Amino acid sequence: MSDVSTILRHNLAELRKGVAAACQRSNRPEDAVRLVAITKYAEWPWVLELSRLHNVFGENRPQQLSERQMLLPGVEWHLTGQLQRNKVRLALAHAALIHSVDSFRLLAKLSETAVQMAVRPRLLLQVNVSGESTKSGFTPAELLSRWSDIAAFTDSVSLDGLMTMAEEADNPEYARPVFRQLRVFRDQLIAEPNSRDRGITLPQLSMGMSGDFVPAVEEGATLIRIGSRIFDGLAPMESP
Ligand SMILES: *Cc1c(COP(=O)(O)O)cnc(C)c1O
Repeated sequence: MSDVSTILRHNLAELRKGVAAACQRSNRPEDAVRLVAITKYAEWPWVLELSRLHNVFGENRPQQLSERQMLLPGVEWHLTGQLQRNKVRLALAHAALIHSVDSFRLLAKLSETAVQMAVRPRLLLQVNVSGESTKSGFTPAELLSRWSDIAAFTDSVSLDGLMTMAEEADNPEYARPVFRQLRVFRDQLIAEPNSRDRGITLPQLSMGMSGDFVPAVEEGATLIRIGSRIFDGLAPMESP
């Protein structure tokens, strides 16, 4: 067993313990939470080694996602970073789930391109829960006010849930209200008549990263996006 493999196994085991404990505290089944391994800063050999232990991966850039997905098509690849409209086709060709649909224009483009490509993509709507102008994503008010138009896109795409990012902080508890608000907001959205008419239940909540996945799981995350904690302890290779 290589050193890389040993370290990855250890990190994954620690993470799974943390998830299991958080599930127990919140009375949730452990298998309700999937860990998306964010590989944006990971060297390719690490990714390969991880693919022997884990099968859900996430990348922030469509280009790197497409390259890695083609090299490793046996695992599921998610797009978690911002998507420009000129990269929509690439993303749809390679991503099993897009976490970062952050505007109406992007959603419209995804829908139009999906029809052309004869695919039905799975999407999450990124929500800027706090409504800060510096952060990307829909504000809750914006989603609610345009919900009938947004719900209508389920003719061509599957709206699987919501995603959010909390502010980085020393104390993960600072993120808890953000995660709780996302869940409460999801419940509000699915109670809308348009959701019920179209069978939109938004089962997925993508929230929590290395620093704050514990409160995220306790507040209902179904997808946690973990990068640095998985690769912690691995030394970057020297560039030639
Ligand atoms: C980088 C990134 C993550 C993972 O962050 P870590 O703190 O390294 O776990 C999760 N989600 C998104 C959108 C990211 O860009």
